[in-house]
Amino acid sequence: MGFLGRAIVTFLPFAPRFVVGWVAKRYTAGESLEQALEMMRKLSSEGACFTIDVLGEEIKTLEESSPFINEYEAVIDSIVNSGIDANISIKPTALGLLIDEKSAHSNIERIVRKAAENDIFVRLDMEDNRATQATIDAALAMHYRGIDNIGVVLQGRMFRTPEDISSMCDLLGPKSDFRVCKGIYLEPPEISHTNYHDIVDATNRAIDLMLDSGSYTAIASHDIPVIEHALQSLESRGLGPGKCDPRHKSPVSRCKGKGPGYEFQFLLGVRGNIRRDLSRNGHRTRIYLPYGKKWYEYGMRRLRENPGIAVHVTKTLLMPWTNRR
Ligand code: FAD
Repeated sequence: MGFLGRAIVTFLPFAPRFVVGWVAKRYTAGESLEQALEMMRKLSSEGACFTIDVLGEEIKTLEESSPFINEYEAVIDSIVNSGIDANISIKPTALGLLIDEKSAHSNIERIVRKAAENDIFVRLDMEDNRATQATIDAALAMHYRGIDNIGVVLQGRMFRTPEDISSMCDLLGPKSDFRVCKGIYLEPPEISHTNYHDIVDATNRAIDLMLDSGSYTAIASHDIPVIEHALQSLESRGLGPGKCDPRHKSPVSRCKGKGPGYEFQFLLGVRGNIRRDLSRNGHRTRIYLPYGKKWYEYGMRRLRENPGIAVHVTKTLLMPWTNRR
């Protein structure tokens, strides 16, 4: 797997752009907001709701953040005007988090306030370890400013995650709202688990900690051992489709579109069959839907960061029955 992944990643930059575009088509909704809306209208019939991501990350100058802010404002207007069941996901480094935190907070605040005015939730995606603490701090800063329609992503693979769950829950109580995933960035062994089984175990423990702390928990994995663990954990805590969240005496007010204390999330184009099964069984399922012009840079960077993805993608193309759209 390691060799195959690395080989694909080595040769990929020599592949014609249209070939990469053909592969990317499965995983992104297109280059424009109109295409994203069209895709969501199509997929709504599968019982899914959405989190919209404008492709792009790590800017080099603060001026580069403006197009992202404008685009996210347009996304919020479109969600409202179209009535599509969606919220938004943001990569904080696209808003300058690694250049100047204060400016990045102002940028994030602009988007989150506009979303709050329209009862739309905002998720800060989690990037590599350079941004972990700063991303958590940005979300906390918004809560301290009285804007609470925001939550972060925590990565099961990171050693620090249990600590982050408990410290954020201490500060935010039932308003804590996490997406939990394995983590796409291959972090060094000093700070993260590096083998598959340890990552799965740690991700499952993170799910349990979130559920036990009363947080809203968005489970973002396509991996069956993680999904099955989550289903058992939900059931043993009395959480499930159509049930009121038993962890709180009085209902916690959350943005529209939220599930009963939890939801499942999938990337666009990945393991749609499992997503549709969960949805048919009454679980809230959300599709992470990226769109934008930067699909080539985004895809290449992801592949360089984690060659394992190249193997998933190749397997999907060669053996489509293993991974339905
Ligand atoms: P894996 O064992 O990697 O995958 C299980 C199976 O799913 C594979 O065998 C394959 O069949 C399929 N699969 C998984 N990924 C792909 C793919 N890209 N293409 C084709 N098939 C695939 N990571 C972060 O670091 N920060 C984030 O903010 C973040 N947000 C996410 C949001 C969502 C909604 C999801 C679903 C994932 C997110 N991730 C994020 C990525 C995540 O951390 C994992 O890298 C990714 O989901 C793969 O892990 P897995 O749990 O699906 O398990």
